[in-house]
This record gives sequence, structure tokens and C-alpha cells, in this order.
Amino acid sequence: MIDIINELTRITQAVSLVSSPKEQVEVMVAEISRYLNVSVCSLYRQERSGDLLLLASQGLSATRPVKIPAGCGLVGLVASSRHPLNLANGLLHPAYFHVADIEEERFTSFCGAPLVSAGEVIGVLVVQGSQEVAFSTQQEAFITTLASHIALIVQQLPSELNPLFASSVLKGLVASEGIAIGSPFFCNLPELKEVGHQLCESVSDELTAWLALKETVLADLEYEKQNLGLNLSGEITSMFEAYKLLLTDSTLHEKVVEGIESELALACALRKAVAHFSDLFQQMDDPYLRARSEDVWHVGNKLYQAHTQASAEPVCSVSEDTPIVLIGDNISVSDIAKVPVSQLKAIVSGTGSRLSHTAIVANALGVPAVMNVSGLSRFSRAEQVVVDGSEGKVLFDPDEHVLRVYESLLSKRLADEKELRCLRDVPAASKDGERVQMLVNSGLLSDITPGLTYGAEGVGLFRTEIPFIASETFPTEDEQTELYSNVFKHYSGKPVYMRTLDIGSDKQLPYFPILGEENPAMGWRGIRFTIDNVQLLVMQLRAMLKAAGEEGDLRVIVPMVSNISELTRFHQVLNDAYQQLQEEGVVCKRSPVGVMVEVPAAISQLKFWARYIDFVSIGSNDLSQYLLAIDRNNPKLTQQFDHVHPAVIAELARVVSTCSQLDLPVCVCGEMASEPVSLILLFALGIRKLSVSSSKIPRLKSLISKLDRQVASEFLAFALEAESTELIRAEGQRLLAEIKHKVA
Ligand code: PEP
Ligand code: MG
Repeated sequence: MIDIINELTRITQAVSLVSSPKEQVEVMVAEISRYLNVSVCSLYRQERSGDLLLLASQGLSATRPVKIPAGCGLVGLVASSRHPLNLANGLLHPAYFHVADIEEERFTSFCGAPLVSAGEVIGVLVVQGSQEVAFSTQQEAFITTLASHIALIVQQLPSELNPLFASSVLKGLVASEGIAIGSPFFCNLPELKEVGHQLCESVSDELTAWLALKETVLADLEYEKQNLGLNLSGEITSMFEAYKLLLTDSTLHEKVVEGIESELALACALRKAVAHFSDLFQQMDDPYLRARSEDVWHVGNKLYQAHTQASAEPVCSVSEDTPIVLIGDNISVSDIAKVPVSQLKAIVSGTGSRLSHTAIVANALGVPAVMNVSGLSRFSRAEQVVVDGSEGKVLFDPDEHVLRVYESLLSKRLADEKELRCLRDVPAASKDGERVQMLVNSGLLSDITPGLTYGAEGVGLFRTEIPFIASETFPTEDEQTELYSNVFKHYSGKPVYMRTLDIGSDKQLPYFPILGEENPAMGWRGIRFTIDNVQLLVMQLRAMLKAAGEEGDLRVIVPMVSNISELTRFHQVLNDAYQQLQEEGVVCKRSPVGVMVEVPAAISQLKFWARYIDFVSIGSNDLSQYLLAIDRNNPKLTQQFDHVHPAVIAELARVVSTCSQLDLPVCVCGEMASEPVSLILLFALGIRKLSVSSSKIPRLKSLISKLDRQVASEFLAFALEAESTELIRAEGQRLLAEIKHKVA
């Protein structure tokens, strides 16, 4: 009996020992052919066109790219039938298709199994032998099972991977949109991760060197901050502050000292300490905080480079007016500071994600960024690079034709951006004069400036859990007051909707983990948690009221309400907090209160809650999650998690109609508000208050200006009668194209 699990574990382990996707597929086919003792094992990937591209083969002599046209040959048959095919002699099968130059005719037996991911065939696994005997049932079952496991690995390979082509297009994660063309500047400095085991000669010398190193790097950071941040927003400065905070963190310091005291050399002690510190972040559920583990490595690299005195190199030495694309395996905010801001046109990093600080800075600087791009080192001699931040593509030395296409896209985009900038102070209004209030979603002080830059009319959702998550303990009342005051200071005269702590589920506090819940999304979270920990709620409400004072336009939102008792209890706590402040002589107002409509139970209950609330904020992320019973964070269900599902639209219509009967203002603050197709539906439903990420505001304003009630209502009527999300999406896309066409 074939022990598939053991074998699979062994293959997976062998694959994990190599890092590049090209080597991974090569190891995979080599291991499978060795285990099954067959002459040939090949892996094909199905392209969008349906063609099947040979990714790797053990046994076939492919010296040039091999592509089998869609539906052709035995491989095409396996893909189109979605069914394994086991033949004693494939050469005799009517579907056999001869591919020149791979000497396949030497192999008679054929067994192929489809690679299926999320219901789609993404490739085919084939084994072939030279004897005219079909594979045994057991072998066929093994190949089929293996194929379904391999599908998971193949699905994650970069889409341009074709080991037989020297492709000059690399793909990564979209981190900041836009297009740039420039000269590549490779910034690959020695990495701390690569430091091996080293002992020191003198513990006391090494400790002295560590303290001096920290001081040097702190000074460097300050210098870089000045250099980069001079004419820029406060958020760039805050990134450097975040680095400084990590550098002065006691956990890092203690771990380095512990390492040195156990006689490790400084570099080695530093690697261990940084790895430990970074693991702490890695274990967090919150994706934003997980991404902070990268910052820890950035700071570690910076220390290491200063220690080895490598930080001064490389210097960006291109001439003054050359546009530069900064490229590196692990670009940090400090690396960005190495390039003159006026020349920096794009950032490409081998690691990182949309949530990396590097990506956040790229967004703030308004330059495209693509992260997590593998294979960059192959292009270190390239002379020109195109970065398509919207598609997550990086093209090295593109040919004339491709370059011309991108040049024209770039000039169109620059013209568009100029037009969008003009919209900053123009209120969002439809063609027929319906005004829409555009607010910003925030939670970090670093979002404040961009919100204002993009013309936000207030903060529509301040997610207070983010500062709680980013802290080492519950922030004190004074700390919270200071933070919230800053928000009111920037948004003076504008509404600020602050949500009380919404932790639990995917937002865990590192210092107060909520463990042992089988269904955390339905667990102890939001208002349920804060009512049970009322001391936190009192402290937070006091901080909010104090920060708003008499002038601030504070409106408090209560998250995850499902029951009227939660609201009545909330009011008691708010009254207490207000009363205490009055008695203490603090000048403040009792704020209006609203609820997030995100638990479906809220929809039918709003009529009972109306006397306790002043407004409603629709959290379409959670509302969709609970209505569709699809975890919003489950990567396997990303396709299905779509807020334009007919059931979600129908429930939103119910919320809006209930609120209009009860005279309750409504805002939408989930992701839905910033996506063009759903924006049209929300507009048609009569929603005139939206809260979105800052950078989305100009484009949404532009779209609103092209809408009118008639067109939007027709689409809504269609959506309310549509039986599937796909139909709504298709009609929405058609409508968007029509609107664009009419304007052009
Ligand atoms: C929502 O659920 O739509 C929402 C805005 O809140 P969060 O994404 O923070 O859960
Ligand atoms: Mg929510």
C-alpha cells in the first residue's frame, strides 16, 4: 500500500528546501518520477487561453518552450475532461498529439491527472513509462491524489513562471497603484538573516559595541527622516518613529544582551534577538501587526549594515533628472531615503505586502509599488524598467512596442491625476446634483494627513482597536486622550465617528489574547467584550469625550450590537463617564451614539433601537460575512466573498428603508463603499454618506459625478431581481464601461 501522506510529506519537505519556484517544480517532478520509478514526470500549467504550458519535466528533452494548444493531445484531454487518463499506449490514442523535439514517442504508457483549484483546472500532472502496460489502480490513485495536493503549490507559483523562457516580466503583489518608467537602482545590502553562528572574543567589548551601534543607528534614522520627510506629510516621519521605537524596545535590547552574555558575537546575537522579536509579531492574527515583523527585520538589517559598515553602499549615483525605480530583496523605509524623492518613481521589493510600511510610504508618496516579487536578481544588469503598480507587474528592458504602450498609459494617468487633484475641494455630487458626503476610514495617525489631502470631509470610522493592538499594554486614558485629540485637531469643525474598541475575532490584543473560542468571529468581540470589561469602556469613553471637548464633533459608534440590552448598558456607561467628567470640571459634551449594522440581527431590531441611537453605520464587511456565512479572511473563499451578492443588496435595501422611516442618518463604512459597482448600488439606495480609505476618495468622487439617480436606480432594480452575484457584477461592469464611454 502506498503511504501517500508520508510520501507527500517527503516531497513537500524536498520542495521546501529550495527557494525559487523554478527549482520547486523541478524538484517536484524529479521526486515523483523517482518514487514511482517512471521514465517521465511532467507538470503542465493551464494558461488563461486554455493552452497547457510545460513548467518542468523529468525525462522529456525539452530544450525550448513547450505549449500544447487548448484541448489538444492527451494532456489537453485530461484538462478538458477534468478526469484522469491511464493508458497502456498513449501513442495509439486518437487524441495523441505529436510535439516536436521532445522525444515523447519513446514513451508508451501514459497516466495524467488534472490539477484542480477552486473548481478550476489549473494544470495537469503526467507520468509516462516505456513499457506498454497501464499504470496499476493503486498508482493511478496515488497520482490523482498527489495532483490535488500539488495543485495548491502550483496555484501559488508566480503566474509568469515558465522556466523555459527567460521571462522579463515579473509579478508581485499590488501595493501602490500607478505606472512608472525609469532606471533601476538595485539596493541589495547584506542581510542579517544570513549571519551564521559566531562567538565573540570579549563580552564586555561586544556589549559596548552594541550600545554604540544603537546610538549610531538612531542618529542615522533621524538624519534619514529629515532627508526624506522634510517636505512630506507626518506619516513618513511616523514610520521613522516606529523604527526608532523598535530600536529602543526593551525586548530587543534584552535579547541582544542575553545573546552576547552567552558569548555570541554581536551580529549573531542580533540575528537571534531580531528573529525572536519578529516571531512575536508573526504569531499575531491581525494582518497589519503580522506585517510589522518585516519592520523588525528592517531595523535589524539596518543595525547589521551599520555594524559591518555596509550601509553607506550602494549610493544612488544616477544623474539628477533620471527617474529611478528602487529595487531590492527587502526594501525598507530607510532604503527609500537613499533616493532623492523627486527622482523616485516606483518601488519594487522582493518581500513585503500591501500592509508593509514600505507600501504605506509608497502610497503616501504617490509612487507605484509592487511587493513580494521573486527573481529580481536575474535582472541586476537591466537598463530600464516599467512598473505597473495596478497590475503588480515589473517589466525589465521591455521592447519598443511594450514601452510605447506604457508610455501612453503613463501620460493618460498623469493627465487623469491632474484632473482628480482638482476634485479635492469639490464636494462629491452626482450629475443630477445629489450630494454625497465623503469621509475617511482611519485608525492610525498616519492616515490623517492623506485623508485631508484627498479631500475627506471628516472621519467616518476611526477604528480605535488599531492603537490598542499596536501597544504593549492597554493604552492609558491619557495616551488615548492625546491620540484622539490629535484627530480632532486635524479635523476641527468636521465630524469624527469614533468606534469603541472592537477587538476579538481577527483583531486580537497581543497582551490580552482571547483564546479557546471555536468560532471567534461569533465570539467575545466588540460590545460584548467591552461590556464585560467595562473599566476599559469607561476609560475609552472618557478619553474620547475629553479629547473632543466642547468643540470636537464626536459621534460614538458601537460595534457588533445584536441586542437592545447592549445598547441600554452602553448608555449607562456613557452617562457615567460623562457624569464623572462633569464632576471633575472637564469641559465636554455628551456625544451622539450610533450602531454598526454588521450583525444581521440588527436589521429587524433597528425599530426597537431607534430611541437609543442617533445614526447608523453599515459595516458591510462583517454584514456580508455573517449574511453569507463566509469568513471574510478565508483565502479559499475570496471569490465567493462578494458584497454585491443579491442577499446583501436586499438586506441593505431593508436597512435603508427602515432608517428612512425612523429618520436615522446612514453611512456605509465597509469596503463596499469604495468599490465602483457597489458604489452605484449604494447611491441608488439613497445612501449619501460614505467612509472609505483616503486614496480612494478622488476616484469615487469622479465616478459619483458621472452618475444620476435614474441610471443608478435601473441598475438597483436589476440587482434586486438578479439571481446571482455574477449577473450583478456583469451588469455593473457594463454600466461602468458605458458611463466611461459616454464621458470620453
Ligand atoms: C465592517 O465590518 O464593515 C467594518 C467597517 O468594520 P471592520 O472591518 O473593522 O470589522
Ligand atoms: Mg466590522
